Amino acid sequence: MGLYSILNVEGTCYNCNKNSVLKIQFKYGKLRNYVYQLNDEIIWDKKNKEMRMLELVVLDGIAEACKYCNEDGLPYFCKKRSNKIN
Ligand SMILES: [Zn+2]
Repeated sequence: MGLYSILNVEGTCYNCNKNSVLKIQFKYGKLRNYVYQLNDEIIWDKKNKEMRMLELVVLDGIAEACKYCNEDGLPYFCKKRSNKIN
């Protein structure tokens, strides 16, 4: 299993329309399978901490499969603004 971070966002499955917490995987900051909520501060390690100075970064992310219908997740964009994920 690769290392990535997860952003939990409440949302609705586009396939079965059930509300659930979307788990959006993204690779940014320190990668130790951290789980973030909206507006959490991004955790950094020494190798990439200079990137924390960037004001606005748009990240590629992908949602994990729906826990109700197992439909594959859609790609999402995560934004980092002032070092917070949202
Ligand atoms: Zn679903």
